[in-house]
Amino acid sequence: MSETSNTAQIAVDTLVNQIDSDIASYLEACVHCGECAEACHFYETTKDPKYTPTYKLMPLVKVYKQHKSPLRWVTQIFGGPEPITEEELRDWEELVYDSCNMCGRCTLVCPMGIDIAGTIRKMREGYAAAEIYPDGLKQARKNVERTSSPMGVTEKALLVQVGKQEKETGLKIPVDVEGADYLALLSSHEIMASPEIMGAYAKIFERAGVSWTLSTKAYEATNVGVQIGSGPLAKQLVQRVVDEAERLGVKYVISPECGHAYGAIRWAGPNMIGRTFDFEVMHILEVLDQLRAEGRIPKGERDSRKMTMHDPCQIVRRGGLLNEPRRLLDESCSNFTEMKDHGITNYCCGGGGGVSANPRAEELMVGAFGNKMKQIEELGEIEAVVVPCANCRGVFEDGLFELDREDEFEVIGLAQLVADTLADDPKPAE
Ligand code: SF4
Ligand code: SF4
Repeated sequence: MSETSNTAQIAVDTLVNQIDSDIASYLEACVHCGECAEACHFYETTKDPKYTPTYKLMPLVKVYKQHKSPLRWVTQIFGGPEPITEEELRDWEELVYDSCNMCGRCTLVCPMGIDIAGTIRKMREGYAAAEIYPDGLKQARKNVERTSSPMGVTEKALLVQVGKQEKETGLKIPVDVEGADYLALLSSHEIMASPEIMGAYAKIFERAGVSWTLSTKAYEATNVGVQIGSGPLAKQLVQRVVDEAERLGVKYVISPECGHAYGAIRWAGPNMIGRTFDFEVMHILEVLDQLRAEGRIPKGERDSRKMTMHDPCQIVRRGGLLNEPRRLLDESCSNFTEMKDHGITNYCCGGGGGVSANPRAEELMVGAFGNKMKQIEELGEIEAVVVPCANCRGVFEDGLFELDREDEFEVIGLAQLVADTLADDPKPAE
């Protein structure tokens, strides 16, 4: 019998704790039909069988068979499954982190309904506890511990960007306002790479008469704990937002155009901290859709460029916001066309689930982005792609640069498009 290293033991102990009845039923239910392979953009773009979704789960399967399977006593009589080694865990690290965006597309086609994305998330707990995860995510974790932002964006950097946007728009961007109705979170990528989004919020919310604020204590929406697979870190980051939102006394927290941040705070957040929040979490697209329905952000002239939309997996397929962005698009552009696979069947851009924060995965990610480009090419000439997730927008920008196709179309956020197409009339429509 091979010896188990301390690192492997830590991973195994954590994985055993992660195997609850849901995970056990998934691991028992797989009939190895291979249907999930063609649903995964990493398999589709490489045709390498190692990227078959179910194969990525092998270390967890091995731990399950040895420690939790009801038949383990029988198999052990015959020499049983060998314990998993540190070497095997490290061999699988690339499959667990680089080639899974936790996008959930494979689950749609699985005849057994196996939630591979959720199971990979649980596997990452074992890897994170044993500190077997990519350097890019280790750096993001260090940045978060120092500044609360995975890119190391400080409170001061936030305030500098706020000041620039106030100058740019001539509008006040409220910060740390107690008793505001809405606390808006942002992602680091938005704060540094597309700060115009703060100006867009200011413009829309002023028109709609919304009382809102940013916070210098909880500005970051990104939850790197979810991407790494560290439950304790994910909880700490959710708690920081909850404490600040409750201190300010807001009624709503707005999750920004960032995929996994939405799932982390809205769906997983209350379970992480073990109670309901004193406020409601809404995605920015829900807020805008509601304001639009109430006639508080009257539409102006629609953008007439030929546009399509990339559906971010965590907002649409896994987050349930399918119609809100489409209603907003109806009002904001006049020449919209859908990709063949859109809505809940859309393909990931290739960079979700922490892949874009992992430089080692760059080549694989750009390859998967090629799949997205194929979807767009099928539509003929497209002038702008609406991408309502800052992380996906970063992947589009990287991918277009790597493919030397940067000038092909504009990549634009949806809140930005709504702000750009507001009516000039400062008074809401009757
Ligand atoms: S969750 Fe997405 S990226 Fe991960 S294996 Fe399934 S289809 Fe592939
Ligand atoms: S589609 Fe489902 S049952 Fe078939 S191999 Fe994939 S995970 Fe297993």
